[in-house]
Amino acid sequence: MDFQKVIKDINSDERYKEARIVALQLPEGLKRRSYEIIDGMKDKEIILLGDPFWGACDIPVQGKWDLLIQFGHSPIPNLGNFPKIMYVELQEEMEHDLDCSKVPFSSVTLTSNITYSHELKRIKEKLEKCDKKVTLKNGDSRVLYPGQILGCNISAARGNDEAVLFIGEGIFHPLGISLALDKEVLAFNPRTNEYINMEKEKRKFLTQRYAAIEKASVANKFGIIVSTKIGQTRYSLANRAKKILEENGKKTFIIATDLIRDETLINFPGEVYVNTACPRVTIEDYATFSRPIITFYELEMSLNLKDKSKYILDEIVMTDEIGSTSFRGRDKSPSHN
Ligand code: SF4
Repeated sequence: MDFQKVIKDINSDERYKEARIVALQLPEGLKRRSYEIIDGMKDKEIILLGDPFWGACDIPVQGKWDLLIQFGHSPIPNLGNFPKIMYVELQEEMEHDLDCSKVPFSSVTLTSNITYSHELKRIKEKLEKCDKKVTLKNGDSRVLYPGQILGCNISAARGNDEAVLFIGEGIFHPLGISLALDKEVLAFNPRTNEYINMEKEKRKFLTQRYAAIEKASVANKFGIIVSTKIGQTRYSLANRAKKILEENGKKTFIIATDLIRDETLINFPGEVYVNTACPRVTIEDYATFSRPIITFYELEMSLNLKDKSKYILDEIVMTDEIGSTSFRGRDKSPSHN
């Protein structure tokens, strides 16, 4: 990624020109390149936010900066409009192009994460010239671009095609699709030129998830986690979990927290934790917790309220707020009155 153009675009934005103090949220992989970014912003007071940053759902509600710049993510439309947040999406050119002959399906639903979502229209045309039927569809109101996938939302991947084709790096996004859908998912990495069928990874993670469900089915004390991050807060879902647990004779408590880590939970008395925050913390970080952590749907499976034979991925569509009063005022940027 060449930051020169990125910095030039930021410098020419009116919101940047007007700001005195600018806060930056960088994904983990970019933090080591902080100098390349802040050296182009010498006319401002820059604050690098240190907490891990995984998605546009993570909007800090405190801080006296004039502008917050989030790198590497697009806005989440249904969270509302935050005029004092600038989203620098960091879309990349593909180093390797897709080879039609490596796509062994007659019809595919085409998907990507933000990094390559701008390439999907062109890839669709290319595949169609190879006689493939291709669906490129809008997801629900949590995603911005056609075909775009979030770790917590695969709505753009749902369709009647034979398989799903994902364009992007890593297995995080295609794994989510694979866990959610009962069909083949092929991931093409335009940086390494690899084609990965997600079946093996899916089986590995399902083994982990069903082991957690089994542990939950015999536990009696449950902590229910609610995120304090604007784009992950599902307090009403936490209350549903509390209700069904108590109806099944279990003891419960609700914990509100920002970062979900083992040290956050360790001193509480839960035998199992139900996570209503980012569902991918439950899956990808599972091994880092000393007690089992499950999603809401896994809780339902553990209580035999849902059919265990059909795994349901926890996806976020709508979020809510802790309590019924709208104290954050989502039409305003946080930290601004
Ligand atoms: S909730 Fe998790 S998966 Fe969804 S956008 Fe936020 S960090 Fe990404």
